[in-house]
Amino acid sequence: MSGLLVGLDIGATKILGVVARPDGEVLAQVRTGSPAGGAEVVATAAAVVARLRADSGHDLDGVVGVGIPGLVDTDHGTVRHAVNLGVDDGFPFSERLGTATGLRVVLDNDANAAALGAATLLGEDDVAYLSIGTGLAVATILGGVLRRGARNAAGEIGHIPVDPAGLACECGQVGCLETVASGSALAALWPSAGAPPAQALFDAAASGDAEAARVRDAFAAHLADAVRLVALTVDPEVVVLGGGVANVGERLRVAVAHALAEQATGSPFLASLDLAGRVRLVPRDVPVAALGAALLGRRDG
Ligand SMILES: [Zn+2]
Repeated sequence: MSGLLVGLDIGATKILGVVARPDGEVLAQVRTGSPAGGAEVVATAAAVVARLRADSGHDLDGVVGVGIPGLVDTDHGTVRHAVNLGVDDGFPFSERLGTATGLRVVLDNDANAAALGAATLLGEDDVAYLSIGTGLAVATILGGVLRRGARNAAGEIGHIPVDPAGLACECGQVGCLETVASGSALAALWPSAGAPPAQALFDAAASGDAEAARVRDAFAAHLADAVRLVALTVDPEVVVLGGGVANVGERLRVAVAHALAEQATGSPFLASLDLAGRVRLVPRDVPVAALGAALLGRRDG
């Protein structure tokens, strides 16, 4: 046994694989596009493992950890509702990838994997990881233990209704948090043909566009609502901002922290919790979700 860990982050547009040491150091990376369909995703994932074996010079026998979107049954290694990947109906992902690679597969939700990667890199074991992408979800590691929920649906905070007069949500409810605090909500508010909408918005605001600054600050306030919701529910040591919107970098953390500080001005109770000081940006120079997937194998094995 090499003692090395293997992790795959399977997303709607790309599959990223890493070989890492147990301490979190990434030794090799392979990235490729995602196909659609369960069998096709398995075949591509197996090809990524083969390339990791070649690139690292190790057999990589043992375990591969995998983070994938959708509702994941971690006991049975099956996936439902990974809509953008065309994987549904309890697809037996772990069994299929295990057969294709000869490795034992540990499967989890991609946000859970990212939370584990972020917690390791930040040196924290009490973390809420906000995944701000197409939707909005949170993954929590409390006292070192990942909370998946009795039905693997813990953290679906994007579908908590917050505004009875709000927008219709794809889930069938009205005024869900993710209709105002997600990448797709931001894209609807600030359409952009070129750069990703979040980047276009923050760039425009920084260059003095008053309307952009207003939209940015309103968006940051909704994200601050999400942080407050999580913090007042499970009181984690830190709340990490991650997902595609976090690609705008430190200025996202600054905007959300500013909104949290504003929300606390009239409340000594809220101010005493220092939520603004407990918000972190996900580390951006490391493939956090793929690393976290690799670490899933360590924890399970
Ligand atoms: Zn909803």
